[in-house]
Amino acid sequence: MIDAKVPKGKLSEKWDNCLDGLKLISPNNKRKYKVIVVGTGLAGASASATMAELGYQVESFSFHDSPRRAHSVAAQGGINAAKNYRGDGDSIHRLFYDTIKGGDFRSREANVFRLAQISNNIIDQCVAQGVPFAREYGGLLDNRSFGGALVSRTFYSRGQTGQQLLLGAYGALNRQIYAGKIDHHSRSEMLDIVVDDGRAKGIVVRNLITGEMTTHLADAVVLATGGYSNLFYLSTNAAGCNVTATYRAYKRGASFANPCYTQIHPTCIPMNHKGQSKLTLMSESLRNHGRIWVPQQADDKRAPEQIPEVERDYFLERKYPAYGNLSPRDISSRAVKQVCDEGRGVGELGQSVYLDFGEAIERLGMESIKEYYGNLFDMYEHITDENPYQTPMRIYPAAHYTMGGLWVDYNLMSNLPGLFVIGEANFSDHGANRLGASALMQGLADGYFILPQTIGDYLAGATPYDESANSSDIKASAEALAKESSERIERLLSIGKSSSSGQGSRSVRSLHQSLGEIMWNHCGMTRNSEGLTTALDQLSSLKEEFWKTALVHGESGNLNQNLEQAGRVADFIDFSQLMCRDALAREESCGGHFREEHQEQGEAARDDKNFSHVAAWQYQGEGNPPTLEQEPLKFDELKAVKRSYQ
Ligand SMILES: Cc1cc2nc3c(=O)[nH]c(=O)nc-3n(C[C@H](O)[C@H](O)[C@H](O)COP(=O)(O)OP(=O)(O)OC[C@H]3O[C@@H](n4cnc5c(N)ncnc54)[C@H](O)[C@@H]3O)c2cc1C
Repeated sequence: MIDAKVPKGKLSEKWDNCLDGLKLISPNNKRKYKVIVVGTGLAGASASATMAELGYQVESFSFHDSPRRAHSVAAQGGINAAKNYRGDGDSIHRLFYDTIKGGDFRSREANVFRLAQISNNIIDQCVAQGVPFAREYGGLLDNRSFGGALVSRTFYSRGQTGQQLLLGAYGALNRQIYAGKIDHHSRSEMLDIVVDDGRAKGIVVRNLITGEMTTHLADAVVLATGGYSNLFYLSTNAAGCNVTATYRAYKRGASFANPCYTQIHPTCIPMNHKGQSKLTLMSESLRNHGRIWVPQQADDKRAPEQIPEVERDYFLERKYPAYGNLSPRDISSRAVKQVCDEGRGVGELGQSVYLDFGEAIERLGMESIKEYYGNLFDMYEHITDENPYQTPMRIYPAAHYTMGGLWVDYNLMSNLPGLFVIGEANFSDHGANRLGASALMQGLADGYFILPQTIGDYLAGATPYDESANSSDIKASAEALAKESSERIERLLSIGKSSSSGQGSRSVRSLHQSLGEIMWNHCGMTRNSEGLTTALDQLSSLKEEFWKTALVHGESGNLNQNLEQAGRVADFIDFSQLMCRDALAREESCGGHFREEHQEQGEAARDDKNFSHVAAWQYQGEGNPPTLEQEPLKFDELKAVKRSYQ
């Protein structure tokens, strides 16, 4: 039976009760404990810095060449907090309520309340670090609105909030590297978890420059390795984003929760041609001023300027008048798909809708819009060669974020003792749909404020790591895992060696592209039983094809990005099977998981009686189906009502 270890007491007192009940380690003893942190994005960098500041020894890892390259750097629009600086009625309770409702009542109530409570501390922490949040004329930090909220609670630094927050966390991380408390390894990819006596005790790492495989042991391991929406091939994520760390941890006993919960973001630059390798996000913040519309008539090929007001359909404003263009992402994305499916999409392929700033520019002036979104407008123009100050942007939904992740309890520990998971890599706070500007909030709440406290409770019950006294058993099992990882690398490099050409025949990229097509078509914005069953068959064939035909160049002893990519795509293919199984098992629609069989007038139809739970999957060995455990979701403070944004 899954135990989420939610503390007792009133919702508003649970986090304090948790803190009061945690076992403590004296300041002098903290330095005897060593913690491994994989990932240096906002979650990992903030956790490493804070734990080192507390006195723990930290060893951190990232496959990037610098911690600053973590994908958090891409975050554009902002970070939520319940400061109520605008005096527009915000509160901790309202942020909590919006987040639970936004996630379609599929998240753990106690975690979300804590997130809302901590949100305000994050802003204070970041301001103290010097993060240059936008300010109003009077000097207070400025706020704007994001989807699924009727208040303005999003703090931002133009369209580069992630970069500014990451510079703050990176500064804190560097301070500790310089102080000798963090031993950081860049260009180092974690390939396995060392489990000893049922506890996570270390990792296997491949040096991406030399190919050397090493093992690293510690008292606890933290995964902060980000999300996996890059499995769709075309997504807003960077090409390097992957599922390898969390998937390999799953294979060593950590449960994977709600893998099918994926976020498709409504406002991305649409695909222009088949050879494209990436899609670019246009931040949700743009919907503060941009209005989304399509022509009322299908197949209307006129330029946007030639379509008069009365012949335009501002479909989000029409369907969801209370929230309008700031309706949540899952709902907005499906609405965009619907109008395009009706033949009212615009652009050459008919697969986009307009995001129009004409009215806002007329009302507020060009300079004002430039102040808000200048860098996003520039980015749009560089990519499309169209000037969005003069003509509406064209946007379409794209895979963006994954709410699924490794299962964690209230203390952010997985079911594998000693393995903690933070940031986008865990499943925790967003249920079936994440609201905009909530990922940065969660990653930093986990890293700066929650994990550094809760991990002490686990460590206090463990004998501190001692390199010299470490038993030869654990070293031997770590070495055996390293050998397994090396053999897998060799297996990848030997694909196709026995064929007439002596090498594979299909590029890894093209196999990834096929994976993306299968998943987008059958486990994307909408899903159904037939499509998911087809996808499972296609994935089995693709897996076979991958291991027969993948063209992996070069060797393992030096920098080989083709080899790195091959390993990640192989994991994506395996993991996609789990995702489809989860989507098939969840016979309801909720948030981003829209099962066509379960809808009411085009809106998601939840089944609380049978599916108000977290689905936590356990690996059962190669070739065996995984097993499913359920964590029931109980709502003591809120009533799980039908979600409406009308
Ligand atoms: C374009 C874009 C815009 C966004 N805008 C916003 C926004 O405005 N507001 C908001 O709240 N959210 C936004 N998000 C979401 C948010 O940015 C992410 O969810 C969040 O930054 C993830 O942080 P993280 O620390 O969990 O992971 P990441 O920042 O992705 O970091 C992952 C780290 O893990 C490392 N890693 C991964 N695998 C391995 C491995 N096997 N071995 C070693 N290292 C590994 C990487 O090197 C990296 O250091 C946006 C996302 C995108 C893609």
